[in-house]
Amino acid sequence: MTLQSASSVLAFALFSVSAPVVAKAQTNFLDGNYAQCLPAERVKSLAKHFKQFGKFSKSGVCVDKNPVEHRLLHMLITLEDVRVNAPAQPSGDDLSLPILPANWIDYLKTTVRELLPAKASSCYGSTIAYVIVGGTNNLGKMYYCPKFIDSKTEDLFEQIAVFLHETRHLEGDYPHVTCTQGPRKGNEGGCDESSAVKGAYLVTIEALAKLSAFGENVHPSAREASRASALAYAFEAFNKPPKIDRMEKPLLLSKSGELQILGKKDLVTKREDVPAGFMARRLTYGYDVFPNDTATKAISLSPGLSFVQPDDDDNGFVSSFNDWPAKFRGEIRGAHYGEEMDIWLEANRVVVYCRGEKESVRKEFPLNKDMYTNLIYPEGYDPLKSRAAVLAKSGKWADIRCSSAGQPELDWHSSAWKGPARVMKVADRVLGIDKDGKLFEKLGSKWKPVSEVKDHSFVEILSYDWIRYLDER
Ligand SMILES: [Zn+2]
Repeated sequence: MTLQSASSVLAFALFSVSAPVVAKAQTNFLDGNYAQCLPAERVKSLAKHFKQFGKFSKSGVCVDKNPVEHRLLHMLITLEDVRVNAPAQPSGDDLSLPILPANWIDYLKTTVRELLPAKASSCYGSTIAYVIVGGTNNLGKMYYCPKFIDSKTEDLFEQIAVFLHETRHLEGDYPHVTCTQGPRKGNEGGCDESSAVKGAYLVTIEALAKLSAFGENVHPSAREASRASALAYAFEAFNKPPKIDRMEKPLLLSKSGELQILGKKDLVTKREDVPAGFMARRLTYGYDVFPNDTATKAISLSPGLSFVQPDDDDNGFVSSFNDWPAKFRGEIRGAHYGEEMDIWLEANRVVVYCRGEKESVRKEFPLNKDMYTNLIYPEGYDPLKSRAAVLAKSGKWADIRCSSAGQPELDWHSSAWKGPARVMKVADRVLGIDKDGKLFEKLGSKWKPVSEVKDHSFVEILSYDWIRYLDER
């Protein structure tokens, strides 16, 4: 927290620099005329509280003549129109610890009376808004950065969460602390200690989770974006992560492009249009799919399995893959993303990146007279642990990790791999797919066919992060 003459600036960055792609949102009811002009009667009603808009009470506001006021009022009108039909009963985890009242614009109005342009020097990074806590001169004032004015209409939902977050600061300070874990580790004022302090990040999460799960007339892609953001904040903006009722479920990709979740008894189809290939989970931010068909480009999916635009800033492998000439794409066998370790696998080499606190170390492990086939996860995928294994055509297999000193390591096992070609431990089940695409489960020391899944030909298995509050709506 920065102290400035007895007052503190509580700025809010939309996403940390390290956060990979979050889906771009689009909304239904925000489109139409409001994207161009806001009608006088809506402006008039808001100007009763936010006096700064009084001069537009008769005329309304259009984006071409008054882009700044249009943007601010569009955000406020969206806050007025947002309806979330969340059950009154708490979910039992920290995603529904309610701070926000039913009417979100009322919450903003409790402490904010004026929206003011920020000082440029305070708008570093991805900060879009901030408040200054302390001093009577700062009461009721919220500052917006150029990034907020310049951003797209479809980002409004995410930005609503930011303005509600800032409102929480004005309501009672709720200062942030230095992050002691996760992607923001060491970031001063980038985290809340825990959800128990009921601070501003809990408001961010509450707004995004409710929009995703219970927002009315919310476009599916906006639901997805809000879901992804809520989980991203839960993952990285708390020193003691919030309690979330979540469960890993097996996620299977079939040869014919179906992406399915294995429930207790059956498969639930989530998509039928995903190219067959290998996949990689991007921490809690979704999945990348790298097609076997070398003429097809790699794609990204959100955590809830919607197609999203691969982000150029996310250090992902999708752009690199797509930049490779098609004839070389067939050489690529796997990718792994983790908090401290990334892996890029080709038939004749594995490239391991270990991200230390100060520097990133890259090391190649070539393979001659044999070929790497794919990555396997007999101990499961955990974004926070540097842990993966690689399998070779000969049956040899090796563990890959980053040492405590941040050095890439590859250790061959002395005996050959005896399981199926692809393996993923999901929750307490170790599952695998053999070369024919059949699903197996390791029971004791034996691999047995999974009886509830018949007539399927799978090409990939990963884990799906199933969140009761968000997925069981
Ligand atoms: Zn804050």
